[in-house]
Amino acid sequence: MFDLSRQGRARPSIAFTVADIHQSPHCRPAANVFTWRSLVADRGEQMTVRTGSCLCGARAYEIDGDIDGVWVCHCSLCRKASGANGNWILIVPRERFRWVRGEEHANTFALRETYAITRCKTCGTPLPAETDERNIYVTAGTLDAPLDKGVRTHLFCASRADWDRDEPDVRLFDERSS
Ligand SMILES: [Zn+2]
Ligand SMILES: [Zn+2]
Repeated sequence: MFDLSRQGRARPSIAFTVADIHQSPHCRPAANVFTWRSLVADRGEQMTVRTGSCLCGARAYEIDGDIDGVWVCHCSLCRKASGANGNWILIVPRERFRWVRGEEHANTFALRETYAITRCKTCGTPLPAETDERNIYVTAGTLDAPLDKGVRTHLFCASRADWDRDEPDVRLFDERSS
């Protein structure tokens, strides 16, 4: 599904706190789910730790260090699996990813040997998947912390849905439409 030639690189990062967390009542994550903290690793370097979780909060994870950016796969399978314009993924080396709770809540559907999706049994959120031996493919929308990076790669652009674009008269609202 993805080209794995570009691997994420573990590297020290400058730790900082988030002062402007999006506080819309419709977007606010559960209070006990959101954390963005820094820690001092064994080497004495500061490292950012980002957390993520499903909609109901039952399944949660942490990622150490920075991430290069977002990959978007527009293939027809990813559009079905996401119910949207594709899968928005962070490719994270396994050694920098860990689950912190909810193993019993994961439910995997394998369409075929090379294509599977995992969702939370309770809320149906698409969850990070252990797709290859070196990396975890993290569904970007499950992050509870800002990424500080945007999209770096679009895949299967030839399969992109024709509606996956803004019309010239697109309307934009900070929150729900009026
Ligand atoms: Zn859930
Ligand atoms: Zn795909």
